[in-house]
Amino acid sequence: RPRTARASWDGVGRLADGHRVKLLANVGSAADARAAAAAGAEGIGLFRTEFCYLAATSEPTEEEQRAAYAAVLEPFAGKPVVVRTLDAGSDKPLAFLPMGEEPNPALGVRGLRVAFDRPELLDRQLAAIASAAADTGVELSVMAPMVATAAEAAWFAARARTAGIARAGVMIEIPAAALCAADILAEVDFVSLGTNDLAQYVFAADRQLGAVAALNDPGQQALLRLVGMVAEAGQAEGKPVGVCGEAAADPALASVLAGLGVTSLSMNAAALAGVGAELRSVDLAACRERAAKAV
Ligand code: PEP
Ligand code: MG
Repeated sequence: RPRTARASWDGVGRLADGHRVKLLANVGSAADARAAAAAGAEGIGLFRTEFCYLAATSEPTEEEQRAAYAAVLEPFAGKPVVVRTLDAGSDKPLAFLPMGEEPNPALGVRGLRVAFDRPELLDRQLAAIASAAADTGVELSVMAPMVATAAEAAWFAARARTAGIARAGVMIEIPAAALCAADILAEVDFVSLGTNDLAQYVFAADRQLGAVAALNDPGQQALLRLVGMVAEAGQAEGKPVGVCGEAAADPALASVLAGLGVTSLSMNAAALAGVGAELRSVDLAACRERAAKAV
C-alpha cells in the first residue's frame, strides 16, 4: 500500500499520465452518501437500495421509496449516480419479499429474478428512483443485479426506458453474463462488475463462508481474465465497464483493473484516498504490464 495515500488524492481519478479512471462510491444510506461526498467521490457507482429496507416488513410505498432515495442522492446533485434496483435474497434477505424454501438461495430467485414474477414491484421502484433523481438533480443511471443473459438485460432496460430513465445498465456478477458481455452490452448503456458475487460463482465458493475465503480472493487469474474479457467487450462497444465489488477498493488491484481496461472503480468512501493515490503513481503502460502479468 502506498505510504503517502492521503496526501496526493484530489478527488479526480486518473493515472500518472492523465488517463481517467472514475472513482465512485458504494453507498447504502444517507450517512454513507454524505461520507462519500466528503471523501471526494466523483459520483455514486453503486447505491444498494435493499439496504434501505432490511427492517421493512411490508413493501415501502412509492412515496416512501422516493423520500428514502432522495435522502441518499441529495449530496450528489449534478453528479453521476448508479442506483441499483433491489438485490434481495440469498445474503441480503428482505422480510417483505420472502423467497420460500430454497435448497441453494445463492442460486435461487434473487436479484432481478424476483422481478420476473412481480414486474410491478420493479416498476414501482423505478418510478420512485426516477422521481428522487428529478428532485435531487443527479445524473441518473439504474442498474439491475444478478443478470444472467442478454434477454434479461434487454427486459430490464425496456422497463427502465418505460419509466423515463435514459441510462440503464446491469451488473456482471454471474459467469454466464461475463462470457456473453458483448451481447449484454448491446442491450444496455454500461455494465459494472460485481466481483464479490462473480468470485463466489466462478470459484464455487460461498462468499459468506470463512472456510473458503481464500478462493474468493478477486486477485486470482481466473477472475481477472473474466474482468479483462468484459472490459474488452466494453471497449469494442464503446461503453463503460466499471467494477463495484470489493476488488475495486484494493489499491494493489486497482492498477491491474485499470490495465485490463476498466473505466471506473466504485468502493466504500474510506478506500477512495488510497486507491486514488495509487492510481496517480502509475501510468497506463505500467497498469497494462501489471494486468498482463496478473492474467
Ligand atoms: C458484488 O456482488 O460484487 C456487488 C457489488 O454486489 P453485492 O456485494 O451487493 O452483492
Ligand atoms: Mg452482488
